[in-house]
Amino acid sequence: MPFVNPLRMLQDARSGGYCIGAFNLVDFLTLRAIVEAAEAQRSPVILQTSSASVKQLGIKALVAMARLAAGESPVPVALHLDHGTDRAVIREAIQGGYTAVMIDGSKYPLEENIARTRDVVQEAHAHGVAVEGEVGIVAGVEDDIVVRQDAAIYTTPEEALEFHRRTGVDFLAAAIGTAHGFYKVQPKLDIDTLRKLAAANPCPMVVHGGTGLPLDVVRELVRAGAAKMNVSTQIKQTYIDGLHGYIEAHRTEYNPIKLLDHARRELVAMIGEYMQVLGSAGKA
Ligand SMILES: [Zn+2]
Repeated sequence: MPFVNPLRMLQDARSGGYCIGAFNLVDFLTLRAIVEAAEAQRSPVILQTSSASVKQLGIKALVAMARLAAGESPVPVALHLDHGTDRAVIREAIQGGYTAVMIDGSKYPLEENIARTRDVVQEAHAHGVAVEGEVGIVAGVEDDIVVRQDAAIYTTPEEALEFHRRTGVDFLAAAIGTAHGFYKVQPKLDIDTLRKLAAANPCPMVVHGGTGLPLDVVRELVRAGAAKMNVSTQIKQTYIDGLHGYIEAHRTEYNPIKLLDHARRELVAMIGEYMQVLGSAGKA
């Protein structure tokens, strides 16, 4: 089936008490691994591309690749632009076949964030494309944006409600103490805030920084109302560790297909396990 708008997927997840994984692809191998895991688990899935992969491959190539890998898939697949900051790239994604885009205006003062987000919502909705916004600031490194953990600003339910009401955004990234990249110290998560946000807010909530959280914590976030969980760093780590592991064990073998297949299988297993923890397995 063609890419679906993920809003319904996330609403179903929220009412069903489970969560949809949004996995960042970096190339065709990671893309195939995500789709393969979703099919094996019978799980709806969101494919995500970061600004870095957009810079490297371009929107056209990413859409073509994703269509090739997921176009015939029996499970619902959405294609989402993660952390859009460049308005021109967001427009290209909306017009080019993405079914959701994130406009990350969190570095701006609230009023400007609202204005920028509303502008994207108007254009996206005219094309049937869903929009993710962000209020509060998620810590860590996302592309070239670095936010120290103590500089992150947690989202309040009042702020989230106002943001949703004034922008018409479809789902919202909440800053609740998770961070992008690897955790240097165990994060102090404000799961109670997430619970309040999910209870107060009329739109599904998104948690960024799903890598490296203990699986119990991920389950707790799902129970607290996370409808979309972003997983990026874990994909890169499993990919690179998979390559290293194979090369170290087969120093004199020169068969890239075997090497890449090994990394892909490791990714399929990791992503499948994550889908089971999120509870999306079996929901497609
Ligand atoms: Zn993020």
